[in-house]
Amino acid sequence: MDMPTPCPHCGEVCEFNDMIETEIELNVEVFLCDECAENAEEEKTKCFECSEVIWDEDDATKIKADGRDVLVCEICFDFLEEE
Ligand SMILES: [Zn+2]
Ligand SMILES: [Zn+2]
Repeated sequence: MDMPTPCPHCGEVCEFNDMIETEIELNVEVFLCDECAENAEEEKTKCFECSEVIWDEDDATKIKADGRDVLVCEICFDFLEEE
């Protein structure tokens, strides 16, 4: 390994060049191993319409789509309201 670096999430030592820069909070980016990066991606709440990450659920609106509750960002909600 050129630059063995422990993943800050799981502690696994990985090659730094293989790690993925992942935004875990708004404007907080860390390098995670690919497994943790994938999990972090999945855990994020995303806008149902545009897939933008919803960092603060207070900024999102719950709507019904396909018979289930989903969250949409403010921009998409305004857009849907206009239709
Ligand atoms: Zn990891
Ligand atoms: Zn959206």
